[in-house]
Amino acid sequence: MHPASNPSTPLPSPQRVARCLAELTGLRDREQLQQRLAGHLVEHFQPVRAQVCRRHDERMGGWDILALHGPPAEPGEQECQALLEALGREHPLQLAELPGRAFYPLPGSHGAQAVLQLQLEASPSEAHQLVADEILRVYRNVIGLLDYGERDGLTGLLNRKSFDETFMRLAALSARSEAGLSGCDGRRHWHSGDPCFLAVIDIDHFKRVNDGFGHLVGDEVLLLVARLMGETLRQHDRLYRFGGEEFVVLLSCSQDDGAQAALERLRERVARYAFPQVGELTISAGFTRIDADDTPEQAFGRADKAVYAAKDGGRDQVRSFDELLAEGAVAEAATGGVDFF
Ligand code: GH3
Ligand code: MG
Ligand code: MG
Repeated sequence: MHPASNPSTPLPSPQRVARCLAELTGLRDREQLQQRLAGHLVEHFQPVRAQVCRRHDERMGGWDILALHGPPAEPGEQECQALLEALGREHPLQLAELPGRAFYPLPGSHGAQAVLQLQLEASPSEAHQLVADEILRVYRNVIGLLDYGERDGLTGLLNRKSFDETFMRLAALSARSEAGLSGCDGRRHWHSGDPCFLAVIDIDHFKRVNDGFGHLVGDEVLLLVARLMGETLRQHDRLYRFGGEEFVVLLSCSQDDGAQAALERLRERVARYAFPQVGELTISAGFTRIDADDTPEQAFGRADKAVYAAKDGGRDQVRSFDELLAEGAVAEAATGGVDFF
């Protein structure tokens, strides 16, 4: 049974709604956007209890709870089901078997999946729900615009704009890993106890594709390689195209040889793939572990050197900068050595 409708809660004034929309559309940080949306919805519904439930890494299951109003409450079995159901929805979820609860999906914080769970004294009026629905729609539009600005037009992979910010965050996680701290950062699907790696992937003899088959076919190859990367690497690895036929991946692995294994899988997959018209193609990859005090330029420079080594070694191979360094095959440059962008 739904609790009785509560027409007594006054509808927000047009000024307040306008202020809320102006604030949301002015924000560029996804986390802040998510927090402010949750804040506005709480103000709007004045619930008895409100909490943001963020899903842990899918390997872990479970939810991180952030109480916004009232004490936090671990979701029960039925509520977990409702949270999961709400995650993929555009509209809020209300269930007859969970009276007084409303579940608002909060998409968009870099793959982090979150739901605002409200416990209401009485069902909100239809007009109240409508206003909240429209606020949610504006929020999704803002997230859509942010996504659009962060993606490469051809492949749909991330462009370099969002790279630096993510990189710095990962370097901080790597620092925790070096300090022996562990645990799951449910917000970002990265395990803060796992080391992070930067890989550069370059298509071998790509110029021959353009020269032999034309740029359109070349573009199709780029798109297909990007798709193979997405299918082969893990869902929460971050894939970038900075331009040209060069890709960058930020990945986190529980074992030191995990990055090598993941990139080998990708290399094999590409080598086995029959590219329309072109036939066989290969990639070379180089990677390095991200250190706590790394700048993006330094880590990129090291991975790029490892790509050069892979090219020198005959292409169609994956090389680790850190191994090359141990073998004495490369020197560590003080500043990374390679011009970045
Ligand atoms: P290597 O094995 O040494 O990497 O050889 P390569 O031919 O792949 O390397 P090179 O860097 O000389 O050539 C890269 C080519 O990629 C040159 C450029 O014309 C092409 N290219 C860069 N961006 C694009 C693009 O957006 N679309 C297409 N079709 N080609 C591009
Ligand atoms: Mg190149
Ligand atoms: Mg190339």
